[in-house]
Amino acid sequence: MIDVLVIGGGPAGVVAALRAADSGANTALITRDEFGGMAANDGPVPVRTLAHAARLIRESRQLGRYGIVVGEPVLDYQRLLERVREVVDDVRAHSTFRRQIDSVNVAVHENTGCARFVDPHTVETASGLRLSADKIIICTGGVSRRLACPGSEFTATHSDAWALTCVPPSMIVIGAGATGAQVASIFNAFGSNIQLFHAGPRILPTEDEEVSVAVAAAFRESGILVRENFGVIESFAKTPAGVQMTFTKDGNRESVEASVIVSAIGWVAETSTLDLAKANVETNKRGFICVDEFLRTSALHVFAAGDVTGRLMLVPQAIQDGFVAATNAVCGLTLKLPDQAAPIGSFTDPEYAQVGLTETKARETHEVITAIIHFDSTTRTIIDGRTDGFCKLIVDRETRQILGCHVVGERAVEITQVAAVAMSGNMRVDDLARVALSFPTYAGVLGRLAATVSRQLNLNVNPGRIL
Ligand SMILES: Cc1cc2nc3c(=O)[nH]c(=O)nc-3n(C[C@H](O)[C@H](O)[C@H](O)COP(=O)(O)OP(=O)(O)OC[C@H]3O[C@@H](n4cnc5c(N)ncnc54)[C@H](O)[C@@H]3O)c2cc1C
Repeated sequence: MIDVLVIGGGPAGVVAALRAADSGANTALITRDEFGGMAANDGPVPVRTLAHAARLIRESRQLGRYGIVVGEPVLDYQRLLERVREVVDDVRAHSTFRRQIDSVNVAVHENTGCARFVDPHTVETASGLRLSADKIIICTGGVSRRLACPGSEFTATHSDAWALTCVPPSMIVIGAGATGAQVASIFNAFGSNIQLFHAGPRILPTEDEEVSVAVAAAFRESGILVRENFGVIESFAKTPAGVQMTFTKDGNRESVEASVIVSAIGWVAETSTLDLAKANVETNKRGFICVDEFLRTSALHVFAAGDVTGRLMLVPQAIQDGFVAATNAVCGLTLKLPDQAAPIGSFTDPEYAQVGLTETKARETHEVITAIIHFDSTTRTIIDGRTDGFCKLIVDRETRQILGCHVVGERAVEITQVAAVAMSGNMRVDDLARVALSFPTYAGVLGRLAATVSRQLNLNVNPGRIL
């Protein structure tokens, strides 16, 4: 019997296996597909590559403004897909995790097909591999939630969207969370006629309200038809030119049609084939594996990490989970999940990003002071001709702690990294105002905001932040 068996080769599983082996455990990792999981093969890496192509298209449209004369950009989608494959291979080939995991002799079994429990300590894979372990860490990630209505088999998921061999003339995207917004934004840049349907009152519902409003306005401006509060879907049907969706709102029935309909209505745990009952591992109402603060499941020898637990479903959190779960599996219950600033962002056009509390949430529990700077008044954005957007800082009036930062516009994701570092380091707003951030930079807006808030609080900081 081995000491630790990790199921799933995404960021959570890879770090869990590495940490278990580093801690002295005889460790094996099995994964249904290739090493790297969704992050490398189907999520952030391919998506970012497509988003970069979309960025290049919009950058190229600026060239004339700076006196550089070229023609209208033409997208060779086949070549772009080749580039996506090159990037995925390149990232995988340069994975330091792979080298590290091999160097500590973790037995890695890739492409095993689905694994399932046959008893509490034994797992069997579709490929016929059978392994028993003292401790097991489940890191099987998640999958797109499917719509449950007639004809839903005619809809695609984000994975199908990336696999398209040509840019569809038109696309309906259902669900305007992070994934739906990205699909809509990328294919809009590639020339598809996009309709973005969102059941709730505002797109990007977990973002600060001002961010949702600004991104929706920018999407509309760029030609995306954004339909919030659209009603309830009744059915889908195949048509000669694509797929038709029928929905009702306030008793009125309407039909819309597009070449492709992409459903991006959420994420569920990938546990369907694991036969968790054989190991007495319980799931919650939403289907995610229940874990305690040590990432231990209802079975005391089984841990779970990453998307399969349904917390913040992002790569950094999956990595952190893998480390915590493996530490506790090997060394006993010694490490709790830290309560840390978690920056989240998306590479849409415009980009948006956040860290910490939204203004509404912050006001529920704090006396807050906020400041906003619009990108039409910061030097770098003016230089780069990227003057749409804003950065908002939310600060506790009494403690001066930074509670949240929300950005829409160019380099939004990078700007929030700086805010996250300040928050993680427990910097007060006046501490941040004293950092001499480089000029002219995108992140420099944070220094200016911090100085603005500090001044409003009558704190003694350098008043020179006017840029
Ligand atoms: C379109 C998209 C864009 C994203 N963009 C970002 C981003 O920009 N930044 C970010 O931080 N996050 C992003 N994410 C989320 C991120 O990809 C996930 O949070 C992360 O991959 C979760 O890691 P994980 O290890 O928990 O699961 P996964 O990466 O999903 O890995 C799970 C692994 O388990 C294996 N597996 C599943 N079932 C079984 C089984 N029964 N037996 C054996 N193996 C199994 C799979 O083959 C896979 O290797 C994005 C996701 C999507 C869909």
